Amino acid sequence: MAIKYIPEPFRIKMVEPIKMLTRQEREQKIKEAKYNLFNLRGEDCYIDLLTDSGTNAMSDQMWAGIMGGDEAYAGSRSYYKLEDAGKDIFGYDYIQPVHQGRAAEKVLLPLLLGEGKLSVSNMFFDTTRAHVILSGARPIDCVVPEAKDPSKRAPFKGNMDLAKLESLLKEHGRRIGLVVMTITNNSAGGQPVSMKNMRETYALCQKYGVPLNIDAARYAENAYFVKRDEPEYKDASIKDIIREMFSYGDTFTMSAKKDTIVNIGGMLGVRDSASPLVIQIKANCINYEGFYTYGGLAGRDLEALAIGLYEGIEESYLRYRIGQMEYLAARLDDAGIAYQSPVGGHGVFVDAAQMFPHIPYNEFPAQTLCIELYKEAGIRTCDIGSYMLGNDPDTGRQLHADFEFSRLAIPRRVYTQAHLDLMADALIEVKKRSQEVKRGYRITWEPPILRHFQASLEPIK
Ligand SMILES: *Cc1c(COP(=O)(O)O)cnc(C)c1O
Repeated sequence: MAIKYIPEPFRIKMVEPIKMLTRQEREQKIKEAKYNLFNLRGEDCYIDLLTDSGTNAMSDQMWAGIMGGDEAYAGSRSYYKLEDAGKDIFGYDYIQPVHQGRAAEKVLLPLLLGEGKLSVSNMFFDTTRAHVILSGARPIDCVVPEAKDPSKRAPFKGNMDLAKLESLLKEHGRRIGLVVMTITNNSAGGQPVSMKNMRETYALCQKYGVPLNIDAARYAENAYFVKRDEPEYKDASIKDIIREMFSYGDTFTMSAKKDTIVNIGGMLGVRDSASPLVIQIKANCINYEGFYTYGGLAGRDLEALAIGLYEGIEESYLRYRIGQMEYLAARLDDAGIAYQSPVGGHGVFVDAAQMFPHIPYNEFPAQTLCIELYKEAGIRTCDIGSYMLGNDPDTGRQLHADFEFSRLAIPRRVYTQAHLDLMADALIEVKKRSQEVKRGYRITWEPPILRHFQASLEPIK
């Protein structure tokens, strides 16, 4: 059943031409890229859905702000503007800019974790998982079981499994150095976390004396889902919802390349300015990122960030944004193509295990689908499955992911309804000939951590 496409709450005043290579050229390019889509050049992708991170279209106001950025090394006016916006929206006392999300993780996580420690999350994003491991600690995913069943339509599939979290807290106590609440739950398919779940998770953390960090890359999309699907919040403003969500955490780390609609930037927040963490964060930031009033960003970036924070929480924008996902998902429903449903906030996560049931996890069905989509229509997507998950850090053995998703991440304010139709048509074509794709891929070279960015692959004959 087709659904209505929600018209863009903006119009276009600048364009960037894109071109589609021939199928023969695309087959050559992906081979030269060693079947790793991260090795492709952006200009060789007709529609680039590799990520929604930093690929967003800034507004005229944000570009205008860039001209007004204050480049003072210390105490830039743009920093104070960002600090004001951060305090206003999140209600946190201390706002630290950093150059992107993983920089916030690098600054914060070693302060709370280390050798012998554990960290529990509703699901770690890959760089967050990497920083837990780099600190010497071990990550434990603790998402509700329905997240692992892509065909099961349930609201808030990103939630923390509270019973499992409490048993972990009981068993390990303070050995758990940090609980991480990822909103929306990226690795589970951009699935939202309910306000109720955030509140109850925080209550458990307080009971056992473990701090909670909000991994807040998609906080605005999460707030929209709370408003849409949690009856108590249907009349609340997005901003009030965000305020309450952030009251259920002690710190936040944020990639601003997502919901803040900028091309680079990140933030770290501490709710209580009296926390001893503030001084430690400043020290780490000076070592890794730069002086704490710029955190690895230019003054102009801070300015765009301060403006984007407000644009990203506008309800009309969020309705259009989530509407794009719902439109694409409805077209896939019509074609019987499975995805993590209901559709989440920043993309459609197609269930490649359903598309290629004959390809086992260790031949990477999701990576296989990504390669087929590129060959079909020049669409670049990304594996969120066993290929991305990698090997067990202790045994070196290939891990078996809970799902095999090919992620069509939708950049913000970039693609139109016709582009979305082209994505759906390409998936339908690949599904038609899915039986002809007999085998998956093997890895011929891989680095030890975050391998999917760099590994080389070859098709299994
Ligand atoms: C993108 C992302 C990060 C890392 O942020 P970068 O800006 O890519 O370094 C961390 N957590 C989540 C949930 C993300 O989506």
